[in-house]
This record gives sequence, structure tokens and C-alpha cells, in this order.
Amino acid sequence: MKNLELAWILEEIGDLLDLQGENPFKVRAYRRAARTIELLPEDIEAVWRRGELGKVEGIGKALEEKINEWLSTGVMTYHAELKAQLPPGLRELTRVPGVGPKLAQRLYRELGIRNLDELEAACREQRLRHLKGLGPRTEENILRGIERLRRQMERFPLGLALPVAQQLVRALAALPVVQRVALAGSLRRGRETVGDVDIVASSPDPEPVMEAFVRTPGVEQVLARGDTKASIVLRTGLQVDLRVVRDDQFAAALHHFTGSKEHNVLLRELAQTKGLKISEYGIVRVDDDEVLAVATEADVFAAVGLPYIPPELREDGSEIAAAREGRLPELITVGDMKGDLHVHSDWSDGLDTIEAMALAARERGYEYIAITDHSPSLSVARGLDPARLEEQLREIDRLNRQLAGIRILSGCEVDILRDGTLDLPDELLARLDVVVASVHSAMGLDEREMTDRIVAAMRNPHVDIIGHPTGRILGRREPYAVDMERIIQVAAETGTCLEINASPDRLDLNDVYARWAHARGVMIVVNTDAHSTEGLDQMGYGVTVARRAWLGKADVLNCLPWPELKARLKDGRT
Ligand SMILES: [Zn+2]
Ligand SMILES: [Zn+2]
Repeated sequence: MKNLELAWILEEIGDLLDLQGENPFKVRAYRRAARTIELLPEDIEAVWRRGELGKVEGIGKALEEKINEWLSTGVMTYHAELKAQLPPGLRELTRVPGVGPKLAQRLYRELGIRNLDELEAACREQRLRHLKGLGPRTEENILRGIERLRRQMERFPLGLALPVAQQLVRALAALPVVQRVALAGSLRRGRETVGDVDIVASSPDPEPVMEAFVRTPGVEQVLARGDTKASIVLRTGLQVDLRVVRDDQFAAALHHFTGSKEHNVLLRELAQTKGLKISEYGIVRVDDDEVLAVATEADVFAAVGLPYIPPELREDGSEIAAAREGRLPELITVGDMKGDLHVHSDWSDGLDTIEAMALAARERGYEYIAITDHSPSLSVARGLDPARLEEQLREIDRLNRQLAGIRILSGCEVDILRDGTLDLPDELLARLDVVVASVHSAMGLDEREMTDRIVAAMRNPHVDIIGHPTGRILGRREPYAVDMERIIQVAAETGTCLEINASPDRLDLNDVYARWAHARGVMIVVNTDAHSTEGLDQMGYGVTVARRAWLGKADVLNCLPWPELKARLKDGRT
């Protein structure tokens, strides 16, 4: 399968265009195509051979020609030319917090800075402060950013690692000699970033499995290749480890390599008290060395008298005590989601029409979808002023009369201005079904001001949800300074829901805050913040965070059917 390699190229084109200050819609189009191809269940080459590239969502005429060229010659001229126009390290510069494509471009043109090391040196030599608009603070911030980035570069965000890992698992599963194969490690536990990917497979004949694995397209380096264990590094820098075991050892191996370490240590201790020894090879009765047969992970837990513990809960060991005391929650699943309450359409910065978003929601089995486009102050995102929002309300009415099987809720993602006021009038907010309020500007306020600002928004009688409450972008932007304890307390007081933004770049709230908020009686909502139909598929990432926060479907607002949801929204209460 060449899907991953192609996706990687398209992603790089998007980044390079961004660096050149290209139109953001063009940049998005490439990133979107990359994502589509990455998730495509079929080999792109097969689609191409049938002449059906143009039928793949997001692949237009121009892109079709480029992919055609790449698949027939192995080269994409456009990609090669773009790459030649800029030094290779420049893309990395934009990952430093505070260095956008524009600044990276300037640093290159005006100071000749081509990569992270040169940027670091320039800051230390205080050369940036001589550029217009930059000063000593910029240098300090960039140095801090570089340090943070270097730490993060050793870890991969879930959203990058998971699709790749799933594709590898599918490829291995397709080998006739493989009996079972599954993801393990922190990725299976749903950690927001992972150091590497672990895969466990069972087979009576490991050799061909190893062979197929090290020949995965996109492998840059084979770190190790033994009889039953191999490690590869993909071109993206992601390391993947595979272990192949006998099928009767699969369950124990899967459990062992899923971890966490703390979980495994405590489970082994519990096993000892029952005269058992648990290892990656299986479970042995200490008395007579009898090996207990364990066919599934549930059998592993049952052997020590526990119910099955889902991987997302296997973290600090407290899950084992909870399991012993029968306190494990019935965790939420993607299938419990009744709708999405934060999505954008092409009325603001989304790519698809309201109708397309609604139909995509219906296709995913949802009962409702809230269209929450941006408000006027976010002019870069073409935020809607009151007149256009009125117009959108009429369009939603019209579509609701026309479409069956899905309810479109009216809404907006209203900006919380610096002083805590909102940039749409209350009378208008009162008429919307769902109001999400978010911070998109002045993120450098101190903790007190930022907290007061969000608290003021929660006290607005029409604000139902605080969107992406800490504002972080994984690997790019730290959360803003905010007193989460107070936010959670006021959310509980005012009946405002806090969002788990499911976009894998955000995952905001994170698992810890979400669990904390739930414990204080705050209703959580899991939204994708989709800017296109396929963005709706990112719900799973948010649900993973919710599961790691020990949440069940009763704890999440958009697991409620519409009448009950309506009663929970501020304007729906009487
Ligand atoms: Zn937002
Ligand atoms: Zn949004």
C-alpha cells in the first residue's frame, strides 16, 4: 500500500505552501486530501488502476494528475519543485511556538536561517532583535519554544500515530499466516502522545510476518530484526515494534505489552497473592508449574478474580482497586454518540455546506448536528455578523424541512472577547439552540484575567458550552494560563458544559481535567470541531479521552437524545 507515503507527500506540500504564504484554502485542500488518502480503506494504486482517482473525496482534477504522475513515474514534479524552493529545515521552524510560516519565511530571507539549530544560534547571538517588529522577548520566547519542541519531538501525537499503526495492523492481519494481531502499548491505552508503536501478533510461523513487516512501504530504517521481534523506523520518524508469539501466548503478551508498567506491577502482585505468576508468556501456577490457558485478555483478568479492565483505564493502578471493588465504570463508546455540537460549515472557515455536514452526520447514525460557525471578530475565519447569522438560521430552517432523519441545530462558536463579553448580541444568542463560547485571541493574558474572562462567558445565560477550554494545540501551543479549578467550579454552578475537543491536535480538555470536571458535577460534551465532513470521523479521539477520564454515556451531553439534550441546554430549561 502506498497510501501512507502519498499522504505524507501531500501533507508536506500543504506545509510548504503554507510556508510560502499560499491561500489557506489551497493549503487545507492538500492536508484534507492527505487525510482522506491516509484513511482510505483501499489501496490507492488499485483505485488508480480502475481510473477512479477522481471519485475519491477531495481529489480534484489537478491533484489527480499529480497522483497519476507519482504512481506511474515514482516522482511528483510539483512536490519536488516546491521542496527545491525552500531549505529542508524550514518546515521544522514553523513547529516552534510563535514562529508561523510568515516569520519562518522572513527569518530565512533576512537572516538566512534554514533550520532549528541556526535559529537557536541566532537567538543566542541576539540577532533577531534587529529585525523590524522583533525584540529581546521574541528571542527568549523562541529559545523556550525550541527547548520545548526538542522534548516533544521525541513523542508523537495520537492523531499521527494511530492511523499509521492501524494501517500496519490491517496489513499484518491480511497475511494468511497471521492468526491474531492487535495494537498494544500506550497507543492502545489512548495516550495523547506516544513514544513508539507496539504491535503484537500471533502466528505458527513468524518468519514471513517479520519479512512483510520490515518491507512495509515508508520504512526508513530497520533497527532490529530477530526471530520474533523487529523494530522499524518510518520516514516520519515513528518507531514501530512488532512481536510475534504463539497463539496460546497471544492474550498474555497483548496484556503485557499494553501496560502500563504500574498496572502490570500491581496485577503481578495481586497474582502472587493467589499463587500465580503472570508474565508476557502466560500465567503459571506456582505450586505445580501448571500453565493456565488464557485465550483472551478477559481470561487474564479472570485468572486473578477481576473483571475485564479496558486498556484506557490501565494507567496508575487505581483501576485495579476499582475493579476489585466493582467500581469500574461502563465506559462511553463512539456508538453512544447521538450527535456533534461543534462543527463549522462553508459559511465561515469550514469546507463543506451545511447540507453536506448534515448528511454526513446522518450517515454516521447521528440524530442531530449543531452548526456552530464563527462570530464576527474572527474575521480571518470569515465569522458571521448578525445579519448573516439570521440568514443562516433561515437556511437551517429550510434544510430541516427538507431533510429527513437528521435534525440540524442552530448555533455558533461565539468569541469570548478580551473583557469577557461576547461578540454577538444576547437577543440573537437566545434564539440559537446551542451556543459554544471560545477564546481565539489575546491568549497571553495572565491567569487571573484569562480566568475572569471565561467565567464571565459562563455566566452568560445563553452560553451552553466552553469550547477547547485551555486553548492548547498539541506540539505547537501550550495551554493558556487559566485557573481550571475555578473554571470547573463555575461551570458546575452555572450549568455550563465543558468540551472535550476531539480534534487530535487539541484533545482539550485532556483526560485529567475531564475526569476532574466530571467529579465536580460538570456535564462534559465531546465535539469534533469538524471543518469538513471527514472531520466528523475524529469523534473517536475525543471518546478515547472521555474513556481515559472514566466517563460513561450518562456523563456526556451529546449522548442524550434531542428532547433530553434540549432540556439540558440553558435556553431549553424553563
Ligand atoms: Zn474554536
Ligand atoms: Zn470551532
